[in-house]
Amino acid sequence: MHEVTESVYKRVCQLDPDQKEFQQAVYTFLLSMDKIIDELPEVTYHKILERMVEPERAVIFRVPWIDDEGRVQINRGFRIQQSSAIGPYKGGLRLHPSVNLSIMKFLAFEQVFKNALTGLPMGGGKGGSDFNPKGKSDAEVMRFCQSFMTELYRHIGPNTDVPAGDIGVGGREIGFLFGQYKRLTNRFEGVLTGKGQTYGGSLIRPEATGYGLVYLSDYILKGEGKTLEGKECLVSGSGNVAQFTVEKLNSLGAKVVTLSDSNGMIYDPSGITPEKLAYVKQLKNVKRGRIHEYAEKYNVEYIARDTSKPNPIWDIKADYAFPCATQNEITVADAKNLVNNGIQLIGEGANMPCQAEAEKIFLENGVLLAPAKAANAGGVAVSGLEMCQNSMRLKWTSEEVDQKLQQIMKGIYDSISSAADKYSEHNNFVDGANIASFLKVSEAMIAQGY
Ligand code: GLU
Repeated sequence: MHEVTESVYKRVCQLDPDQKEFQQAVYTFLLSMDKIIDELPEVTYHKILERMVEPERAVIFRVPWIDDEGRVQINRGFRIQQSSAIGPYKGGLRLHPSVNLSIMKFLAFEQVFKNALTGLPMGGGKGGSDFNPKGKSDAEVMRFCQSFMTELYRHIGPNTDVPAGDIGVGGREIGFLFGQYKRLTNRFEGVLTGKGQTYGGSLIRPEATGYGLVYLSDYILKGEGKTLEGKECLVSGSGNVAQFTVEKLNSLGAKVVTLSDSNGMIYDPSGITPEKLAYVKQLKNVKRGRIHEYAEKYNVEYIARDTSKPNPIWDIKADYAFPCATQNEITVADAKNLVNNGIQLIGEGANMPCQAEAEKIFLENGVLLAPAKAANAGGVAVSGLEMCQNSMRLKWTSEEVDQKLQQIMKGIYDSISSAADKYSEHNNFVDGANIASFLKVSEAMIAQGY
């Protein structure tokens, strides 16, 4: 590492020794900074890295709620307002038992650069809670969301901070949160994105992350003279991102053979067709079911997850892989399996799905790697379009939103590939995404003074 980036990294590790995910996100970002650090004017740029890794504000709060048995439950709530350099803070809310300060900070940090890549005026933030929505009734989820918003509302606003969904937060939760914001403030405004279609939501927002992932991957493949047509794809996860990734891959002629959840995976060599995908959507969104039910219904292989072993999903021979589950799902052993089986592209649907060393293995072996900051930016991009529609008090058609999404993903491809060519190696999209977004955010910060 360069001495400047190394000192930034050491400081982060000293200040927050337990925040492993945050350290990892900063570390991989700083490795890209090494490629440009000597070319930047020292006085203005070097301290900028210390400023960037420090959130502008981090709010931690108590979330009490009453369960269906009448007992009081307490969870911890977070909102990290990482950067407002190029627009109001913007980023999702995650409800998952693993949520802690480190995970919130890594996600908020990533979000700043992802949002910058979209070309839309959005800063970066993230929030959530260690509340587990799994197994809770609708009424419990509603009471939790109302309590969460009872604190959050004072920190957010359409020109201040605009949250959205992430793992565990979909249309149902956004509706409960929006209703409580309105009750508390008496204002009907675009304070959240991912809203329902009847009250200001944008068409294509649920589809956007998965569609955008496939659009960007397709631009990268085309740049190399490759296509999706007729290719075998591995997709992990089975939530919103995974579902619409499969949908778009199918519509572009690829074949998806896997899906997973935290308990295990399905392997369906005949392909997860649109009809079968409709069942998955119903299973996950309506019944909140598990993926083994798919295996039973279609009589295909179900492999239970043994977390002490490499994930079998990454040991299946295929052309392209789309990790759409969660952070660090691809370990070094998984990366070796994928490389040995001849994988050609990794499209990161989840945030930071590859461990730092796994990412290195892909880059060293010439695997095309579409990094999350760029590859899953379609979700927040359409959130930006939702904010725009709310401000204008109008609604675009699906075709209009989808066309704008494609344009944004093309813009992201152009900027990450030209930054890679200029500052790193051809097709190193990890460096390309980090450098292109850093240059934009840092210029805005410098223009606004210290
Ligand atoms: N949670 C999503 C992400 O990781 C979307 C954020 C948003 O729409 O604000 O980018």
